Amino acid sequence: MEFTDRVSRVEPSATLAISQLAGELEAEGADVVDLSVGEPDFPTPENVVDAGKASMDAGDTGYTSSNGISELREAIAEKLQGDGLEYGPENVIVTPGAKQALYETFQTLVQEGDEVVLLDPAWVSYEAMAKLAGASLSRVDLSAHEFRLEPALDELAGTVSDETELLVVNSPSNPSGAVYTDEALEGVRDLAVEHDITVISDEIYERITYGEEPTPLATLEGMRERTVTINGFSKAYSMTGWRLGYLAAPEELIDEAGKLHSHSVSCATNFVQHAGCEALENTEESVEEMVEAFEDRRDLLVDLLAEHDIDVRAPEGAFYMMVPVEEDDQSWCEGAIQDAHVATVPGGAFGTPGYARISYANSEERIREAVDRLVTEGYL
Ligand code: PMP
Repeated sequence: MEFTDRVSRVEPSATLAISQLAGELEAEGADVVDLSVGEPDFPTPENVVDAGKASMDAGDTGYTSSNGISELREAIAEKLQGDGLEYGPENVIVTPGAKQALYETFQTLVQEGDEVVLLDPAWVSYEAMAKLAGASLSRVDLSAHEFRLEPALDELAGTVSDETELLVVNSPSNPSGAVYTDEALEGVRDLAVEHDITVISDEIYERITYGEEPTPLATLEGMRERTVTINGFSKAYSMTGWRLGYLAAPEELIDEAGKLHSHSVSCATNFVQHAGCEALENTEESVEEMVEAFEDRRDLLVDLLAEHDIDVRAPEGAFYMMVPVEEDDQSWCEGAIQDAHVATVPGGAFGTPGYARISYANSEERIREAVDRLVTEGYL
């Protein structure tokens, strides 16, 4: 068989090596503490599960309209309006996961050779999606600035140009947990307007913050017409396996991306969309409880690391932390899993070697256990 240039440009995920090692060790009977996970360790709220079941029982098992059932698109539009973004259901495509929403956006906007700018550390799939679309990548490293965007705005200004097609902003960030300030976002806005750049604002961790709530980028003056807002249900409502997300954008983009959507996935799963309505409308308490638990774990992990002289600024959102490691990060992560049976993800996977991403979507007991083992084996 001959394969396309497109797929040959993309590497298999670096996190794969870690999960494979973890799987092998577990098969041998080892007790692995998995801090490499990208999903909340909570069940989907019961009322959302019930809504999904009821919907299935009611016969919602056929195709829906491609862009999503109107009930859900209206609920999403209402949510966005609550955030100060004047969008209607015609501005929304409901997708099987935010990942598909991102994929459709890249395929719709990026031509062969177009420049895409990422802020490092950047979630692994942005690079893959940009490359699949044929983009050339430019990257701005935020790790030297404790992962904050504001101090890197000058570097960003030096990186973007009239040739830049797309900039990706992800706040709260996976993997750093950083939440960008309004000043930082305004800086992004000024550059996007000056150079006529479209910005993807991936807000999938928006509900998981521990202080200031991030401002939706599209609500800034001048950004509504140049922002594609990405969001999903995986993280906020612990619904990773349900596969539900969306993109919200000006109608002209919806028309184009909608073609790709209808010819690829057809639509998101019918009863999952109905469960999504329940998630948007009736989960305030469940989300709050989950976020409180994440905040306690974040504080615990920062304290435990400080006890071992590792100073990490407490991230303002998501459930990840970038921890500096001394040696090569890939070897550190491989060693940590082999010797201490603790799984983490090398920073190099996100464009910032020298760190390991630790997910604290695990119990306090397991987090303590992981740190103890890493200390005992000489990794911290
Ligand atoms: N964006 C970011 C930053 C993520 O971390 C993830 C999940 N790891 C996604 C998008 C995709 O989420 P999903 O497809 O499950 O909605």
